[in-house]
Amino acid sequence: MVKRSIAAVLTVIALVCSAFLPSFAAEGDRIAFNNPDFIRGMDVSSVLSLERSGVYFYDENGNENDLFKILARHGVNYIRVRIWNDPYDNNGNGYGGGNSDVESACEIGRRAAECGMKLLVDFHYSDFWADPKKQQPPKEWMNYSLSEKCAALHDFTLTSLQTIKSAGAEIGMVQIGNETTTGIAGEYDFSAMSKLFNSGSSAVREFDSDVLVALHFTNPERDGHVRYLADSLNKNGVDYDVFATSYYPFWHGSLSNLTSVLKYVADTYGKYTLVAETSYPYTLDDTDGFQNTVNTGDNSTGENLLWSFTPQGQASEVKAVMSAVNDVGEKGLGVFYWEGAWITVGDTTGLSGKACSERRNANSVLWEAYGSGWASSYSAEYDPDDAGRYYGGSAVDNQAFFDSNGKVLPSLNVFASVTGRLLGDVNNDGLVDVTDATETQRIAAAIASPDALTNRVADINGDGAVNVVDATEIQKYIAGYSPEYPINKSL
Ligand code: CA
Repeated sequence: MVKRSIAAVLTVIALVCSAFLPSFAAEGDRIAFNNPDFIRGMDVSSVLSLERSGVYFYDENGNENDLFKILARHGVNYIRVRIWNDPYDNNGNGYGGGNSDVESACEIGRRAAECGMKLLVDFHYSDFWADPKKQQPPKEWMNYSLSEKCAALHDFTLTSLQTIKSAGAEIGMVQIGNETTTGIAGEYDFSAMSKLFNSGSSAVREFDSDVLVALHFTNPERDGHVRYLADSLNKNGVDYDVFATSYYPFWHGSLSNLTSVLKYVADTYGKYTLVAETSYPYTLDDTDGFQNTVNTGDNSTGENLLWSFTPQGQASEVKAVMSAVNDVGEKGLGVFYWEGAWITVGDTTGLSGKACSERRNANSVLWEAYGSGWASSYSAEYDPDDAGRYYGGSAVDNQAFFDSNGKVLPSLNVFASVTGRLLGDVNNDGLVDVTDATETQRIAAAIASPDALTNRVADINGDGAVNVVDATEIQKYIAGYSPEYPINKSL
């Protein structure tokens, strides 16, 4: 079936091939991972609200495709999703930020699983953003005692996980709280926080003993801070597996310090360590009429901003953070990029004056209706002093891996290139030979069902499908024909 003449193959190739864009990341980008299951993850919690706002995503060739398929094909192997208990007002209007609830986590988890990606479920235990400055309990828990909160947190965790699993998600890890540096669910005493942590972890253990329990903090740059947290968790008998931190280079110190403080936790307490959030701008320009967190003169300078604000700089930052976590050793579990697809719902690039304000107003209608901005006006009842005053669009559209038209940036390739996989080395033995052509035929015939990254390795012409054309390209390469595609080169 596959033994065509070269001439016939070339004809077929000419007919079916679309332009292949060479890999962005250079050779030598491989990281020698100490943990073979190193997580190269991404948070895409806003995606459903973006799709409802009319956003589409496109691959390198300009073909519209499912976001999850694009991410998996570029080497992303884990998806993170946040959950708010009830991010709606009494009339059902969403607070924004993706209106991220259990229902949306079900769809995101199912779609991730369909592309071979596991799910990290990130419970905020709040009805809207929880971070170092805000740890407000859900509306329903406002008047609960600590013991009532513990029971509610346990039950919400367990029932939510069961619901998400039933929807088809493959849950691999669960975060008990988000950026709980100063508190969780309205409790700010470490002893009380520890009781809530343990209520959550007991629910996860009850759900599935193989699922990892993660706790998530911030500010690794503060002197003694991570040590204090890890020591306090130990003293308070908190049951967990993964010590996670955010690492934003504009706020969170050097990478060598990051490695050092995480290594303390790994070496002292035997915990896994994780960067649960990082990101970096590929530009300082805004594309939706709502000011970004990092813009010219605002979070855009500092000794730890080592990379240019370009796609190459963005890719280099991701690789550097992965290397820093990997340097912890076997307990360096991985890195999640935060909201790498939160792009504009309407491009304001190049617009000024009336045209710009009209586009921004049109965007605002979508942010309000679908929750595709960081906050809607409806959040004022719950968070009047911040979200209720400053609500609007995406503050991170310049940190996405997609341009303002939804087309993937070359920087997304870093998630695959760090694995060191070579185009055409389908069985991953370091050589491109006849066994790879055979394996590609098996994939084409659906005899083998590889993971997304291996599919990418076998998709020689990069058209999104593995078929006989790809197997033939490998055979041509082995036979000594000068390859049209970068076979035997790093992805
Ligand atoms: Ca913006």
